Amino acid sequence: MSPTTSKPRILTGDTPTSTGLHLGHYVGSLENRLHLQDEYDCYFLIANVHAFTTLMDKPDQIRANTIGIVKDWLAVGLDPDRSTFVLQSEVPAIAELTFFFAMLLPFNKVMRNPTLKTEIETKGLGDSYPFGFPMYAVGQCADILAFRPELVPVGEDQEAHIEMCRDVAAKFNQMYCGVGNRVPPEEHVKAGGLFPVPKAKIGRVARLAGTDGVNKMSKSLGNAIFLYDSEKEVQKKLNKITVQADPATGLVPQSHALLQYCDAFLPKERAAAIRAEYAGGKDVMHGHVKAELGAAINALLAPMRERRATLEGEIGDAKVAEVIRRGTSKANAVAEETLYLAKKALKVDFGARRLSF
Ligand code: ATP
Ligand code: MG
Repeated sequence: MSPTTSKPRILTGDTPTSTGLHLGHYVGSLENRLHLQDEYDCYFLIANVHAFTTLMDKPDQIRANTIGIVKDWLAVGLDPDRSTFVLQSEVPAIAELTFFFAMLLPFNKVMRNPTLKTEIETKGLGDSYPFGFPMYAVGQCADILAFRPELVPVGEDQEAHIEMCRDVAAKFNQMYCGVGNRVPPEEHVKAGGLFPVPKAKIGRVARLAGTDGVNKMSKSLGNAIFLYDSEKEVQKKLNKITVQADPATGLVPQSHALLQYCDAFLPKERAAAIRAEYAGGKDVMHGHVKAELGAAINALLAPMRERRATLEGEIGDAKVAEVIRRGTSKANAVAEETLYLAKKALKVDFGARRLSF
């Protein structure tokens, strides 16, 4: 529970690896955040330190991306008066917890983490990625646990990370808080554990495909429809999607990105009808489907575009700076409390400190 409200907490966030967020973020995580803002004490984190794992030579870009993503949050309807916006780099407790948590995770287990492995492959990092790249997975455990949340709304690609975070929480509780090995995860706090063992809350669409039809829609892979894209850009990106029948069956696969978008953005019955047409081997007019999708997606994005327009330029930048400062200050109170309690459990509590931001 939060020290400031009686609501259970949520933590989730985005890495500023691009100027804005895309439709995958919307159906995978943002929608859940919007719905949960009243019921939960929500913390939304900009993982700007983690952006350095792939953009270490582009600090200007990371800064601009940070501002762009917070503008997207505001445009989507995340409300800084109800939820707390947190800048990772200004929450030192996260960095400190990362080091202790790194001791609770076997190195080889981190390196086998399927989310990390997929990222290394799809982002073409080869074997030259920095030491900090796999470290971010450990850091993410600290991002989450610093806020002792119960739920983490994420897309499916993050499940392995949340599993790792659950392992860290459970191990910490067992090793340092005297929680027995047989205590089920949901009872750890009752049994004296510091950390609730948090659960992933997967979005309405667990993994939205990118316009390349191969990978998940991703900020870094050039296959995304962004929430800030103009009407024309949205339609252009949809029109470029290739739709080919599988030579073995003569049918367009039901897993095709276009059909995923129909499920995600058209009324249920209409999406089912289109799926049935493709499954029946009819000569479906792809262009018509793309136009219908374009209209539906643009209708979804229209109010976001309007709100984003009010955040243009310096006025918008100042608003972003203000919500980040206000949120991060509140977040530090929670994260510092967690760190203080963790240090007590670790027997390194030789004096509390006060932080301001
Ligand atoms: P990057 O390419 O830099 O990894 P990303 O597009 O994967 O960027 P993240 O910042 O890593 O975005 O993810 C933010 C949140 O959005 C996470 O909870 C993630 O699971 C979710 N998410 C990202 N892409 C998708 C997608 N295509 N479908 C569903 N959820 C997604
Ligand atoms: Mg990602």
